[in-house]
Order: sequence, then C-alpha cells, then structure tokens
Amino acid sequence: EAKKEKGSGYVQYEHSMNIAHDQLLILETKLRYAIKQNQIELYYQPKFDLKTNRLMGMEGLIRWYDADYGFISPEKFIPFAEECGLISVIGEWALKRACTQMKMWLDEFGIDIRVSVNISPIHLKERTFVQRLHGVLQETGLPAKNLELEITEMSLMHQTEQLIETFNQIKDLGVMIAIDDFGTGYSSLSYLKKFPIDILKIDQSFIRGLKPGLSDVAMVTAIIKLAHALNMLVVAEGVETKEELSIILDNNCDFVQGFYFSKPLSTEEFSARLQDFHLPKIWGNL
Ligand code: C2E
Ligand code: MG
Ligand code: MG
Ligand code: MG
Repeated sequence: EAKKEKGSGYVQYEHSMNIAHDQLLILETKLRYAIKQNQIELYYQPKFDLKTNRLMGMEGLIRWYDADYGFISPEKFIPFAEECGLISVIGEWALKRACTQMKMWLDEFGIDIRVSVNISPIHLKERTFVQRLHGVLQETGLPAKNLELEITEMSLMHQTEQLIETFNQIKDLGVMIAIDDFGTGYSSLSYLKKFPIDILKIDQSFIRGLKPGLSDVAMVTAIIKLAHALNMLVVAEGVETKEELSIILDNNCDFVQGFYFSKPLSTEEFSARLQDFHLPKIWGNL
C-alpha cells in the first residue's frame, strides 16, 4: 500500500499511473485480438465533386466495437495504437480492406472514383512502406489512381529528405496524396513547396459554423486560393449545414465531405447507395 515517505502527492501519482498502465495492457490485448478476429471494420464516408455534382470517392474510417467497452472512437485508439506499436498493422489492414473493396466497387459499378485511407506518420516512415503499398495494389488489382492517402499536416512536423523521398515514391506509383486536417497542424507553409501534394483537406474547425462575415470565411477563401495557385485541389471536411455548403461553393471549393451529405456508412450501406450517390445532384441553387 501507499507509503508516505516520498510525500503523498508522489505516491498518489504513482498509484494512478499503475491503474492506467493495467488498463492500457487490457486495451492493447483487446486491440490485438480485435485485429486478428476481424472485430475492426472500415466504414466509408462519401466525398462529392462540387463541379460535376457527383460522387468522387470515399474516405475509409476505422470502427472498433468491443463487447465490454462498446464503441471505441478512433480518436482514442489510433493514438494509443501509435504508442503501443500496433499502428502499422492497423494501417496495413485498412489499406488492404479499402483497396479490396474499392476494386469490387469498380468492377461492379464501373465508376471511376477513389478511396482514401488515413496513414499514420509512424507507418509512413517505415522503410518498407512504399514497397508494401505497391504490394497491396498488386495483390488487390486496384489501379493506383483509385487510391488516395490522407496524411495529417501534423505528420510533416519533422520534414526530412527521407520523408520527401517517400512522398515522391508514392506519387511515382500513381497514388494521390491529401493533407488532412489542413490549417491546424503546422506553423510554416514551406512544406507545400517541398512535398508533392495533390489535395488539401480543410480542417472541420474552419468549416463549423461558417457564416458570412466571420474570420473563418477569410481563412477558407485564402486556403482555397492558395491551393489552386499551387495546382492542388481542396476538400471541405465536416460540412453539416446548407449555409456552410453555400460558402464553400461561393469560394470555388472542389470537393465536399460531411454529415450534411452522409455519415460514414458500412460497406453494405455504402454499396446500396453508391449508384444514387453518383447521380448528379443540384446543390448549386441552395
Ligand atoms: P479524419 O481523418 O480527419 O476523419 C474525419 C472525421 O470527421 C471522422 O471521424 C468523420 O466521421 C468525422 N466527420 C465527417 N464529417 C463530419 C461532420 O459533418 N461533422 C462531424 N462532427 N464530424 C464529421 P472518425 O471516423 O471518428 O475518425 C476520427 C479520426 O481518427 C480521423 O480523422 C483520423 O485521423 C483517425 N482515423 C480514423 N480511421 C483511421 C485509420 O484507418 N487509420 C488512421 N491512421 N487513422 C484513422
Ligand atoms: Mg482523414
Ligand atoms: Mg480530417
Ligand atoms: Mg481529424
């Protein structure tokens, strides 16, 4: 039991660390088991092209339901998986799952769209990443142009020659690269010149509650102009309302994703709605 000799504050701290440590071990065991037993799933959220008003692709988002803990958010377990060394296993799994499913959708519907997969910087920085990515494309038969990788802006915090080289190799395969959560993760924009980037995804925090006159409108306008000047395309993430949509339309945004259109859906749900998603919609005259 706790002794007072080091001061009660110290003992309490040590005690709470032990509890946390036990829970982390349980979580790690559960996560390893979930990966093995296929208890994790990939959901898909559609993205729409605001120029053609059609479906342009979907983002794969991982879902984990545990019998004891219930639904565990990726916001919680992805950072944990990064710490305990499971993130690359999860990333490989998500890549394989997404590419396999996308290939099936391409064959079934013949629609030229692409799936995006979130990649952790830890996974991306492994020496064999590109080789294994190439392997997944070959194994699944998915054309590289139908795959996009989403890499958070935060991942580019430590820019190294090796990381730039990895990006170039991904581009050489023909896979698209998007910068996720753009505008929140980095203080210098110089990386936009150094890395081959196709797409910027404006972070939800800029989109939420967009109203004419707010400073976030100026941010969104500037991000879209910057991206276009650098030959990049832009996705607005987290669009929930008509008003948010009308502002990004006014600003010539290329693509949109958000609950206003659809939540992330299971494979079955997405399959059932894929054709309808691909019919041209009339969002222009809101
Ligand atoms: P993210 O990549 O920025 O994904 C977008 C998140 O915003 C998703 O949350 C999505 O469900 C949510 N979202 C989309 N539209 C709206 C909206 O209109 N309103 C609101 N409030 N939310 C919206 P989710 O699925 O909980 O994922 C959270 C984060 O976890 C992701 O952020 C991503 O960073 C990470 N993540 C998810 N799946 C994976 C994965 O397979 N691998 C890795 N490395 N990270 C993943
Ligand atoms: Mg993402
Ligand atoms: Mg994001
Ligand atoms: Mg995020």
